[in-house]
Amino acid sequence: MKRFRLVLACVHATNAIPSAYAKLFSSQASKKLLKTHWGFDPGALDVAKELKRRLNAPLHVFPVSRLLIEPDNYKPKNRWGELTKSLSRQEKSSLLDRYWHPFMRAVEKDIRKQVPALLVISHSFTPVWKGKVRNCDVGILFDPKRSQEKTVAFALQKALRKRLPGMVIRRNYPYTGVWEGTAGYFREQFPDKRYAGLEIEVNYKHVRRKTKNGEAIKRALAVSLAELAG
Ligand SMILES: [Zn+2]
Repeated sequence: MKRFRLVLACVHATNAIPSAYAKLFSSQASKKLLKTHWGFDPGALDVAKELKRRLNAPLHVFPVSRLLIEPDNYKPKNRWGELTKSLSRQEKSSLLDRYWHPFMRAVEKDIRKQVPALLVISHSFTPVWKGKVRNCDVGILFDPKRSQEKTVAFALQKALRKRLPGMVIRRNYPYTGVWEGTAGYFREQFPDKRYAGLEIEVNYKHVRRKTKNGEAIKRALAVSLAELAG
């Protein structure tokens, strides 16, 4: 396997809403929603920052809540939610120009610099979904049709299992990696041998607050990614 150059991103890092759009989120219900995993991925930014610190790789952070713009879906119809779908076409396009396009351009610029590039996107997921406990500590999302990406996903899973005994490390769980999101967007721009995009989904019970398990996961991710990427 070729050695990769790492690029880090966190697309659901924050529940920040710029003041110009605060009125859209003024109801008690939407304020409450912003604080949950619907507003951001709790702990995902801490994981990303720790990886940046340990691996000295560039990190791109999407600066606003997914409830304002869903950055992880490049199909226009899926970017807007209940609270934003009524915005005018012009307001939507100015939001994209201000936040989404610059973010994607900056990530793409780094992918062009790093050959071959491994984009690692830090996410977190809710431990319980629709009343069911998700049996997973760390998920690795990838596209199984991309042979190099698949190889690196399997290698990362193996390395994490070795370093995190007793934890459940799964592939393409709790979601499929084949998605019209950030990693998928760049799959359309770059061939398999030039680019691999992995999404790391950490169960937020470990990283929402500082925990022993959370620290172990961050350490294991950093050491394992260091083996795969420089
Ligand atoms: Zn996420």
